[in-house]
Amino acid sequence: MKLHELLAETDWAAQGEAMQAWIARAYPLPRSLTGDGVRQTLALAQEVVPLAVTEVPTGTPVLDWEVPREWNLRAAWIKGPDGRIVVDARAHNLHVLGYSVPVAARLSRAELDAHLFSLPEQPDLIPYRTSYYREAWGFCLPHRLRESLPEGEYEVRIEATLATGALTLAEALLAGASEHEVLLSTHLCHPSLANDNLSGLAVMLHLAALLRQAEHRLSYRFLFIPGTIGSLTWLALHRDDVGRIAAGLVAANLGDGGAFHYKRSRRGRARIDRTVEHVLRARGEPYEVMDFVPFGYDERQYCSPGFDLAVGSLTRTPWGRYPEYHTSADDLSLVRPQHLAGSLRLYLEVLAALEADGRYRNLSPYGEPQLGRRGLYGAIGGGSAKDRELALLWVLNQSDGSATLLDIAERSGIAIGRLRQAADELAAAGLLARLDEPAAAAATKP
Ligand code: ZN
Repeated sequence: MKLHELLAETDWAAQGEAMQAWIARAYPLPRSLTGDGVRQTLALAQEVVPLAVTEVPTGTPVLDWEVPREWNLRAAWIKGPDGRIVVDARAHNLHVLGYSVPVAARLSRAELDAHLFSLPEQPDLIPYRTSYYREAWGFCLPHRLRESLPEGEYEVRIEATLATGALTLAEALLAGASEHEVLLSTHLCHPSLANDNLSGLAVMLHLAALLRQAEHRLSYRFLFIPGTIGSLTWLALHRDDVGRIAAGLVAANLGDGGAFHYKRSRRGRARIDRTVEHVLRARGEPYEVMDFVPFGYDERQYCSPGFDLAVGSLTRTPWGRYPEYHTSADDLSLVRPQHLAGSLRLYLEVLAALEADGRYRNLSPYGEPQLGRRGLYGAIGGGSAKDRELALLWVLNQSDGSATLLDIAERSGIAIGRLRQAADELAAAGLLARLDEPAAAAATKP
């Protein structure tokens, strides 16, 4: 099946329900940078699409960093002066500061307070906090609960191991005829947060599952990794073959109802940047394009100057711009099947546009060739015949061997999929020859 057929035939409502159901199952798992919560999440992911899982040992040098110790939590609670448990990580994963060192202590209300995190502005929500690279312990709780804690002696317990182990990452490579790769990367380190980041995981898993059923020219590499250290680790392990990556997208925040936002790669006008912008423009729905900034998700690492990969980030509402972000309110009610399905569809449209691109030469460039004689005029009636004719004329006029279909799409305002149809018809009529693959040009620096 071709990608455009897959786009037409996919049952989007069913995909949305499947993604929402997957997120509901993955939501309670105790994910972190490392540990069994990540492995359990990947086991669930393998129900959607087969993955190659790699365990990278603690202490492995990765670029300027090193793989951290593995963290696994067994219990975390605070007992109040009356002996009752007031905060318990069993009730919500966010209650414990991620990567907390073990602790068993009795302390005063004031001493305890130095280890508490809450949000005065959102007093009913539990914040998401971590301390990956500095040894600490702590608890996160609603501000209202924190304020209600009386004076007296508290008992705290965090039963966790922070020990030599591994960092777990997973990938799925869907090889096409071309060795040029499209990198699709998403983080998997957030516990009990639905939009950031389970929506990204669910959409990428289902995108991979759909793509497996389709013919594709390019190769696709899906990465499921902990944020920052995961992309650093993957880049360190693949330093010599990142040149194959012709384009890439970092996926996150894809389940809320916000408009799509595209953050350009560091290069700014790479083929992926132009393709996503073309697809978003052609849809006629509100969207926003943002220039590259050196903060955000793993595009920071892919776009570090030594690699400078053509990797942008395609999200709905960007991180930090919705009130539920990094709080317990980023729960299952924030993500909806129709929004997940819309995101999945947009990603597939972008991949279809990348696949559709190509460079051609007009074999009859002196004057317009007679299209009617070749059955290329007016096969379809009405307005669509006019559109088809325009697409044929644009492709013929611009195909001097230098312009790609994306160039023609940008110049003409005609969707690249329609131009590709026209190019296929013209090639079949002997009027057009397909030249090299434009992704090759994209893989090297402009
Ligand atoms: Zn986050």
